[in-house]
Amino acid sequence: MIPRNPCLAALRAGYLFPEIAKRRREYAAAHPETAEPDRRIISLGVGNTTEPILPHINRGLAEGARRLGTPEGYSGYSDEGFLSLREGISRVFYRGQFAADEVFISDGAKCDIGRLQLLFGKGVRVAVQDPSYPVYVDGSVLIGAGGTWSGTGYESISYLPCTAENNYFPDLASLPENCVFYFCSPNNPTGAVATREQLSALVAAAIAKGIIIIFDAAYAEYIRDPLLPKTIFEIGGAKTCAIEVNSFSKPAGFTGVRLGWTVVPRELKYAGGEPVNPDWARICGTIFNGASNIAQAGGLAALEPEGLKEIRDLCDFYLGNARLIRSALLDLGIPCVGGDNSPYIWARFPGRDSWEVFTEILEKCQVVTTPGSGFGPAGQSFIRFSAFGHRSDVEEACGRLGRLRG
Ligand code: PLP
Repeated sequence: MIPRNPCLAALRAGYLFPEIAKRRREYAAAHPETAEPDRRIISLGVGNTTEPILPHINRGLAEGARRLGTPEGYSGYSDEGFLSLREGISRVFYRGQFAADEVFISDGAKCDIGRLQLLFGKGVRVAVQDPSYPVYVDGSVLIGAGGTWSGTGYESISYLPCTAENNYFPDLASLPENCVFYFCSPNNPTGAVATREQLSALVAAAIAKGIIIIFDAAYAEYIRDPLLPKTIFEIGGAKTCAIEVNSFSKPAGFTGVRLGWTVVPRELKYAGGEPVNPDWARICGTIFNGASNIAQAGGLAALEPEGLKEIRDLCDFYLGNARLIRSALLDLGIPCVGGDNSPYIWARFPGRDSWEVFTEILEKCQVVTTPGSGFGPAGQSFIRFSAFGHRSDVEEACGRLGRLRG
């Protein structure tokens, strides 16, 4: 018999979103009235997109599929991705500052975050913002880089609190030396977006302390404030200390299509001076056979002017939802942040347990949210509201939130 992988045994509880889905199912089973339209459960919980892919980008996908059925248009494996897509991403999102071989096309940011763990292995020190997107911690634990569970966190992972007290930006002095630091902006779950000054300080700290930043920019297209950086590579020096992951999921509605990218600059080196880029190419070539050709055709359409306009329109739509949720919460006197340059609103319920508030909102409003404690210890007493939803559902949910009054 094969013993269970101890890394799997080290993972705490269920992954957050299956646990939420389970509690929703149990509530629905115990409350058959939720089958009635006006009592139905509405989800402002997970970050899954809900709106159809817009026409120009969708035509790109359809055309990609059509071409596969022709002798001239057929293509097989595409390794690190279509050259035109790699060049296009560099041109559109990075002002052309990367060569095609620094941009790796993936099947999504989450998948690449998982694969990136292989670059550093189990001996590496990991640091995360607390709260953070669960994959950074759970992916590290899966590869054996988590260490043992202490009761509040994993011993080999440094949790840097991002709270109302520090305006959701970590104290960089507490970053350990020589670690891999997962940093997400616009942030999931807090909705906070790091300023240019904050990112400059982060890059300076990373260079001084021998840190590699894994910068997760999955929500960059939600940034509307022109002063806020959309990529870590707007900051001088970042090429020597950062890898960026990004995706078409949230800006173009590709959550089910699956297409993303990772930028690994040639300047990025390990402690021994070896470049990281060829190792990433090696890992991708070994355990990943490239993103779908159809998805990549859709990605190319998304980079055209009509596609970029559709990305803007789609993000504006969800930002409109975010404004509604935010103002409904503020009307109730519930303090919250985010939702202006990100699709998440982070609401504070001082002194309360996140799962208890989750249950109260589910029972009183039949609205599913995400308990902040699921994103790390500093998420306790917070609830994340997601702006991904149909407008009518969001309006209905906002109305129902009034039941939390009193
Ligand atoms: N990064 C963050 C911060 C996310 O919130 C998500 C999805 O919710 C992802 C990455 C995953 O993106 P993808 O669909 O490209 O795997």
